[in-house]
Amino acid sequence: MLTVGKDDIMRSPWLWEVAPFRIADNLYYVGDKDVSCHLVDTGEGLLLLDTGYTQAIHMLLESIRTMGFDPADIKWILHSHGHLDHFGGTRILVEKYGCKTYFPAVDLPLLNERADLNWHEEFGQNYEPPYDTWFEPDVLVHPGDVLQFGNTKVEFFDAGGHTPGTLAIRFNLPGGLKAAMHGGVGVNTLSSAYSQKKNLGSTWRDAFIRNVRNLYGLEVDIILGNHPKQTGTFEKMERLGEEKNPFIDPTAWDRLMASCEKKYNRLQETDPII
Ligand SMILES: [Zn+2]
Repeated sequence: MLTVGKDDIMRSPWLWEVAPFRIADNLYYVGDKDVSCHLVDTGEGLLLLDTGYTQAIHMLLESIRTMGFDPADIKWILHSHGHLDHFGGTRILVEKYGCKTYFPAVDLPLLNERADLNWHEEFGQNYEPPYDTWFEPDVLVHPGDVLQFGNTKVEFFDAGGHTPGTLAIRFNLPGGLKAAMHGGVGVNTLSSAYSQKKNLGSTWRDAFIRNVRNLYGLEVDIILGNHPKQTGTFEKMERLGEEKNPFIDPTAWDRLMASCEKKYNRLQETDPII
């Protein structure tokens, strides 16, 4: 069987293609196999949460069309944190459709440091697009902000750690459910090696666990991952159509926080920052 490596996918990003689907109510999955993008139909325009890798932009546009929407109606773009795999498509969308962009204020230096130009050095992955992905955010978002987009109220919480500005993003669906994403549960940036390379001490790791502990108990019916594997997105997708929507689980948020705490504890034991 042909083995597809990450480099192959960057040359042929459609290998990451996955059919889009409706999660619940006005909320849709329009990302690919590796990176999530979520679309919300606010009744007054489309709200897009993260834009994936630049290389995957055509899949994103087609996924939005497949769900019955026109990408030209994307009015607002929110970003979970300042890494290229979540803002790689933004510049193109802004240039094509004039979308208004919202970016975590604290992660602005990451955007301005041009992560796309040193992504290989940053994460040992050969993902740099050969063209410019920088954009100027229209609105800088801070934890505690509450913003209204059409019928959708969005609340932002501090989830810093994976990057210092990582946000948890919670929003209501018209039917009454609350969906939320912890914007960065990955601990790849919390290793002692990464900390040493960036001269961070334990600041990012300390923030990660402090914020996870603060986020326990948040009222959430649907958890979203900014990478689908983080929250079992495709396993749930397989079960859509069952009597009970597998995405709706008010206990899942606290279990996600518990898994973050477990990852932190494991790091502290096996890879302490000295
Ligand atoms: Zn990241």
